[in-house]
Amino acid sequence: MSSTTRTRFAPSPTGPLHMGSVRTALFNYLFAKQNKGKFILRIEDTDKERSAKEWEGDIIEQLSWLGLKWDEGPDKEGSYGPYRQSERTELYKTYLQKLLDDKNAYHCFCTGEELEAHRQEQTSRGETPKYSGRCREISETEQKEKLKAGNNGVIRFVVEPKKVTFKDLIRGKIEFDMSLSGDIVIAKDLDTPLYNFSVVVDDSEMAISHVIRGEDHISNTPRQILIAEALAFTIPEYAHLPLLLGEDRSKLSKRHGNNSVKRFREEGYLPEAILNFLALLGWNPGDEREIFSLKDLVKEFKTERVQKGGAVFNLKRLDWINARYLKEKSVSELAQDAVPFFETAGFTPKDKKTTEKIVALYKERMHKIAEIAEYAGFFFQDFLKYDKELLSWKGSDSETTKAMLKKAESILIEVKDWKEETIEKVLMEAAEKEENRGLLLWPLRVALTGQKSSPSPFEVADVLGKEATLQRIKEATNKL
Ligand code: GLU
Repeated sequence: MSSTTRTRFAPSPTGPLHMGSVRTALFNYLFAKQNKGKFILRIEDTDKERSAKEWEGDIIEQLSWLGLKWDEGPDKEGSYGPYRQSERTELYKTYLQKLLDDKNAYHCFCTGEELEAHRQEQTSRGETPKYSGRCREISETEQKEKLKAGNNGVIRFVVEPKKVTFKDLIRGKIEFDMSLSGDIVIAKDLDTPLYNFSVVVDDSEMAISHVIRGEDHISNTPRQILIAEALAFTIPEYAHLPLLLGEDRSKLSKRHGNNSVKRFREEGYLPEAILNFLALLGWNPGDEREIFSLKDLVKEFKTERVQKGGAVFNLKRLDWINARYLKEKSVSELAQDAVPFFETAGFTPKDKKTTEKIVALYKERMHKIAEIAEYAGFFFQDFLKYDKELLSWKGSDSETTKAMLKKAESILIEVKDWKEETIEKVLMEAAEKEENRGLLLWPLRVALTGQKSSPSPFEVADVLGKEATLQRIKEATNKL
């Protein structure tokens, strides 16, 4: 093995890239970068039926958007390619043949029914079911005949019934008693290797120094170690990341909602906020800090500080982190980010300045950019829908409300220099004369927004412009 740290993210392109996978990718990235090593993207597409180019495209697109750059991968040449398993069949074949030649693997011709019957027998005896190893005994001649007759069966790896121990960077020493496991299927045939085998060949051939992956793979590790030993490969170091849990503390799954990166991207979460959030799923800096750029994370991340217990995928925390990043962005950046969301909602702000003004009104309270289209919808509607009762300030009657709106109208008609400060000044002067400011300001604000809560009428009037403001006041008056 080279002395360089080399980690890999090895997704199977069988569906959209989800957040849990990105957490794995991120930890691999951080570990590689902080050790001045390389981060490799390997597409594990040996399952031809379930893999699709579309999903490979999604993996590449979303990882790129997130800014997790790989040093070698299907679209980035390196000395260990190709980086798609479907293009490495010959290599797997060579090693499968070697295992067969060395009697570390054999063809198994047991049928599904035979295996099932055996399983049931074992279960009824109260034993943990495992493959009996029956086909190990088949003579070479019989084997050849069967293969010739087109009965391919499967290829099984001889699992030695010994204890396999490894040191997990997160969990410490882990031991598996392999006498509990039967011989495992590592390929359907010489051209169709399965996960546990191809991953071992690739990790070795690609000189992967550290395998960092989810805890759900932990029981695969002793099998992979045995296969690697049989092929005289160097065994990489392992780190198994804690499971991700839903808010109900069960394993995070589709049941908890759509966790694809695409969804979060479409909702307007920022890539830097997503990475920050994912980094904290199982890792913490050991103090109170919660905001980390990718650069900070490369510096601060330590496998020793990765927890063993499951990490809850807490969307409120993501919202909070995202809001923090949104606050740090300039109004003009946010306005640019908001454009696609306005477009999707069918809103066309008059000009860039207007978009910026709207964004500025919500910057402090937004958790994600998509919210801007919900919050700001009233700016773009020709007719606002709201109950006329909403116009009245704390139970005042509709005559009073109407009179107040008329007053606001007559004041605003006179305003020449239409901008927030001027509007505020003249309206506040009038409002202070009332028994309560709300008497004048509340109906006006509702007339302009149709909302129970919103920014102040001065801010809204400024964005709407004089004509639309007066028009909305008229419509409100007509309701009463
Ligand atoms: N293709 C496997 C997966 O997506 C990779 C597992 C591993 O990292 O070894 O789960």
